[in-house]
Amino acid sequence: MSNREKAIIIGGGISGKLAARVLSDFFKEVIILERDDETNGQLARKGARQGDHLHALLHAGQYGLEALFPGITETFHNNGAVKINSTKDLAWFHHGVWKLRYDGGKSTTLQSRPHLEWHIEQYIKNISNVTYLYSQNVKNLLHQQEGNRIYGVEVSTNDGNSKTLTADLIVDASGSSSLTAHFFKKLNIPIQIEKVAIGLCYVSKTFRLPKSQTRDWKIKLIYPNPPDEKIGGTISKIENDQHIVTIIGYQNSIQEKEVLKDESGFLHLANRLPKADIYNELIHAEPLSKTTVYRVPHISWKRIDKTKQLPKGLLLIGDTVCRIDPVFGQGMSIAIIEALTMQKLFKNNNDDLDKLQTTFHKKIAKILSPIWNMVITEDFRYPGVSGKKPFGLSIQQWYSKHIFLLSSKNQKVYESFIDVMNLVQSPTILLRPWIVKKVLVHRFFMKRKDN
Ligand SMILES: Cc1cc2nc3c(=O)[nH]c(=O)nc-3n(C[C@H](O)[C@H](O)[C@H](O)COP(=O)(O)OP(=O)(O)OC[C@H]3O[C@@H](n4cnc5c(N)ncnc54)[C@H](O)[C@@H]3O)c2cc1C
Repeated sequence: MSNREKAIIIGGGISGKLAARVLSDFFKEVIILERDDETNGQLARKGARQGDHLHALLHAGQYGLEALFPGITETFHNNGAVKINSTKDLAWFHHGVWKLRYDGGKSTTLQSRPHLEWHIEQYIKNISNVTYLYSQNVKNLLHQQEGNRIYGVEVSTNDGNSKTLTADLIVDASGSSSLTAHFFKKLNIPIQIEKVAIGLCYVSKTFRLPKSQTRDWKIKLIYPNPPDEKIGGTISKIENDQHIVTIIGYQNSIQEKEVLKDESGFLHLANRLPKADIYNELIHAEPLSKTTVYRVPHISWKRIDKTKQLPKGLLLIGDTVCRIDPVFGQGMSIAIIEALTMQKLFKNNNDDLDKLQTTFHKKIAKILSPIWNMVITEDFRYPGVSGKKPFGLSIQQWYSKHIFLLSSKNQKVYESFIDVMNLVQSPTILLRPWIVKKVLVHRFFMKRKDN
């Protein structure tokens, strides 16, 4: 434990909780300020409405969570989360082909987001120097002109009172609705924001499926084949013998009114998927929840790493920095990787918080850059998507399409792709000479077939 006194974390979502876990080893006191009221059980919160929708935890997130909270994976399983074989129990229809299915020896945990978050919260509450305060709306950051430093926050509580709290470090983990960008504007500190408009809509509902002798998957993904197909869907087993079904539509292809008009709205939407598998499962299923809708009009990446005159005493983490296209299931795992990065820096740091701040934001930008690039490369397959395109877009799209198609035929290529998708390996591994050769041979045979 160092002699640093107090850290305040704005937002008690995934990033806020992870930051608290990390900072509890380096500060005498850590306070999480969460705007939402305390939930009664494992429910999606108002401040993290996306909790009603399918949340996949990738391998990198799973390994990172286990490193931060030893034993948590077993806790998830003991309390109902579903342990699956990552390649055998996943049926994935992608770019018009089914991925291979085999026992690759790796496992994935399926559970709802509230189940996952609630269990993390119980671990956090057992850390003696972390205080988790609910119903605390952070309204403002306290800034000292001299030295350009954030030294505290102004908070309003739901009884209408206001208070100020000061700390040695403030962490903004308040997600995509973060007030930091707005606050910087008032201080005349420009932030470069990369924004890509994807017009994405999520629609979800949980069901109990009838027993089946032939159902040989635990999670099934039907992805749209862009640019013609815009709607995709997933059905996944989760805790308490439930299945969550999430249907996504790019480019404003889902009309909320249609879906919410009555009970049949969801079924009609499932019937618009490129394959009938999910619809067929739902015909005789028992609905367990209401239908919920969540829109992601655009994704964005605030380039904090490039922000000149960034006030000292402030770290930003998770969706506060980057909200990535959720269809790729990476957001929570990115937050976990960022928390581990924070931990490493604090472990190696000789008490220079200002230097740590710069290094942290540069390091997370390095983590985000290939992921952002990979995701928007896919998003830009839709002609209506607007924003800054990545360099060499068409060649990247051409290459990744071959990787997707090869994943239905070649186990070694699929394994490399899985590691990249699960954020365990950098996308550059897909450029290894043996994979490039496979792609070129694949292209040659496809061309011959076409002629
Ligand atoms: C529809 C959808 C599906 C997704 N699916 C996946 C998936 O499958 N896998 C995956 O890994 N990720 C997924 N994500 C991404 C994932 O939800 C986010 O990356 C993750 O929640 C980010 O966590 P966070 O703590 O940074 O932000 P949030 O979860 O947004 O948490 C921010 C917290 O801060 C609080 N807060 C906000 N403002 C204030 C304030 N002023 N004062 C105090 N508290 C405040 C909020 O109440 C909230 O609790 C999905 C996202 C969406 C939208």
